Parts: sequence; C-alpha cells; structure tokens
Amino acid sequence: MLRLPRFELRAPETIDEVVAALEQPGARLVAGGTDILPNLKHRLDRPPVLVSLSRVAGLSKVEVDEKAGLLRIGARVTLNGLSEHPQVCERLPSLAKAAGLVASPLIRNMGTLGGNVNLDTRCRYVNQTSFWREAIGGGCLKSEGDVCHVVPSGRKCVAAMSSDCVPVLISLDARVVLVGPQGRRELLLEDYYQADGTRHTTRGDGELTTELVVPLPRGPRRSAYAKWTVRGSIDFPLVSVALRFELEEDRVSAPVREAHAVVGVLGARPRRITRLEDARGKALDDPALAALVAERVHAQCKPLENVPYEAPYRRQMLRVHARRAIAALVAEG
Ligand SMILES: Cc1cc2nc3c(=O)[nH]c(=O)nc-3n(C[C@H](O)[C@H](O)[C@H](O)COP(=O)(O)OP(=O)(O)OC[C@H]3O[C@@H](n4cnc5c(N)ncnc54)[C@H](O)[C@@H]3O)c2cc1C
Ligand code: SF4
Repeated sequence: MLRLPRFELRAPETIDEVVAALEQPGARLVAGGTDILPNLKHRLDRPPVLVSLSRVAGLSKVEVDEKAGLLRIGARVTLNGLSEHPQVCERLPSLAKAAGLVASPLIRNMGTLGGNVNLDTRCRYVNQTSFWREAIGGGCLKSEGDVCHVVPSGRKCVAAMSSDCVPVLISLDARVVLVGPQGRRELLLEDYYQADGTRHTTRGDGELTTELVVPLPRGPRRSAYAKWTVRGSIDFPLVSVALRFELEEDRVSAPVREAHAVVGVLGARPRRITRLEDARGKALDDPALAALVAERVHAQCKPLENVPYEAPYRRQMLRVHARRAIAALVAEG
C-alpha cells in the first residue's frame, strides 16, 4: 500500500484566504485530489501544506452570458457536472464529450475542471513509485535525477500534458481566469502552457484558476473530440485530437468557413495544427476534407516515447482518430 506523506491541510472559505494560504512556501492547491494525491503517494512532491478548495464558495457555477456570448465555468465544477450540464451538452458538445471521457464515473465525480486544466504532466518514467524510479538509476529531471530518459541529450523535460478537456478548450478559444497576490488576470488558455514538463503552466506563485470562459458558437458549427486509449473504461489518452468546424450553413454538406484542430499528449503543451486554411470552402462531408485534416495532423505531430505505446504507432492513431471523428460528425448530420 502506498501512503500519503504528512502535510497540513487548510480549508479556507474565500478566494482571498486561498491566496493568503498559498503564501506559505511549498503550499499546493487540492481540488478533487484525483491527480495530486496519487502523485504525493508516488513522492513526486512533498508539500508541507495542502490548500483545499472544497469550502470556497462561488467556484462551482456554470453561467451563460448571452449578451457577451460566453459560457463561464467555475474551476470547481466537477467533470460529471460539466459533461451533463444542458447548456454545455447543447452548445459546446465537444467539451461535454471530453469531460465525460475522463477516467471513470467515480473520478469524474471528484475531479474538477480547474484540476484538469492544471493537471500535472505525465511520463512513463516518472508516474511510478519512488522505488521504481530508484531502480532505473534515481529518477530524472522531473523527479530526483538530472537526465531525461525520453530525450537523453535534452535538457528540458518533455512529459506530456494528458488532460482531456484542455485540447478541446483551446480549440474553442477558451480563456482562463487567474486570481493571485497581484489581483485578477485573464489570458487565452493556449498561452497558459509552456514547453517544459517540470513547469508547464505560466501560473504565478500564489495564483489559482477561478474560471474558464468559453465563447459560444456564433453560427452553424460542428465540433468533436477523439481520444485513443488502450482501455475504454478508465484511461488517460495516449493521443487525442479536438476539432472545430465553423460552417456556412447548418448542414454537413455546407462549406467550411473555419477549421481548427488541437492535439494533446505530445509534449508539455497541446499543439494547434496550422495550415488548415486549405479546408475553407470544402464541405464537411467531402472525403477530401477529412483527408486534408488527417494529413495535416499526421505531418505536424511526432509523438515521443513519453507515455506508453510506441511513438510511431501513436502517430498513426492520430491520423486514424482525426478521420474517424470527422466521419462521426458527418454521420450525425
Ligand atoms: C486512474 C486515473 C485515471 C485518470 N484518467 C484521466 C483521463 O482519462 N483524462 C484526464 O484528463 N485526467 C485523468 N485523470 C486525472 C484527473 O482525475 C483529472 O485530470 C481531474 O480533472 C483532476 O482534477 P482534480 O480536481 O482531482 O485535481 P487535483 O488532483 O485536486 O489537482 C490537480 C492539479 O491541479 C492543481 N489545481 C487544482 N485546482 C486548481 C485551481 N483551481 N487552480 C490552480 N491549480 C489547481 C493542483 O494543485 C494539482 O497540481 C485520471 C486520474 C486517475 C487517478
Ligand atoms: S520527459 Fe524526461 S525528464 Fe520528463 S518526466 Fe519523462 S524522463 Fe523525466
């Protein structure tokens, strides 16, 4: 049995109190605890204090702002709550789908959107017991060591951002709201991540995520999320792709006005696929469109050996799942 290390648990009731509690050196936030607690059992971190968000009011709301055309989702909304919310299901179906594909029903009852957005990066060499890590020579750049086992010549950790919701949120141009000692700031979620698996967000000391703000569709749209895993019932994605197509009219034979694709589980930040302007004008049900998107995804993504399964196979799976996701959208009509 793996035991938790000793720590002090604080449970403030307001955002200001959370920010104050985070002033203690080494303090960490805990929301649902489904990511941080296993990591503590693996001794990937030894925080003296955990600051729980469980008693903070006002972080569990999903609100539609019709005037601004935005959906505001509190950081403590659970993944089950998100996947079943009528407004999310109707207007942002790819987000509802991604949230509903995380882990298992029990974990989705505890796990929050804020925790999913701040999920630590993962790697086959680090998400192991400390005993296992010792056996391979004392860890790596992200734990107790000074080498990277994935890219031995590299000086940067390339552990993978394995959140299901993040690629979708980026594909929807979502913004993240942070509150900290310097006040409130809001930025594009895409700009929140950086290519360093040991510190993959630009979250400042003492800051917490309070909400995600997602623009609502302004016209006909189809969006999808596809995740490849080995076990269908409970698993992190081994590759994932989020797609969004803005259409000229509300039918799948209508021309595409804008195409967006974001791929997860490559490195520490999701990758936005470029050169999708060529999709413009093609119908969603035109096989040439699916071929184009799948080829762009395949050409621009080279998975690493950072999570289980061989990288070349995962790369093929990306192409397959991009095509299947578009085929499913067409079949839905
Ligand atoms: C068996 C298993 C399978 C899993 N499968 C998946 C999967 O398929 N897909 C997937 O995406 N995830 C998966 N997860 C990971 C996890 O359950 C989810 O990502 C969940 O959304 C994490 O949310 P949480 O509230 O439990 O986060 P916590 O564990 O509480 O926190 C996670 C991290 O985010 C930080 N944090 C939490 N809230 C905030 C906030 N408001 N502001 C700033 N930082 C914050 C914490 O400090 C911590 O570093 C799995 C976990 C397990 C144990
Ligand atoms: S990518 Fe390299 S440094 Fe990062 S966790 Fe994996 S082995 Fe360690």
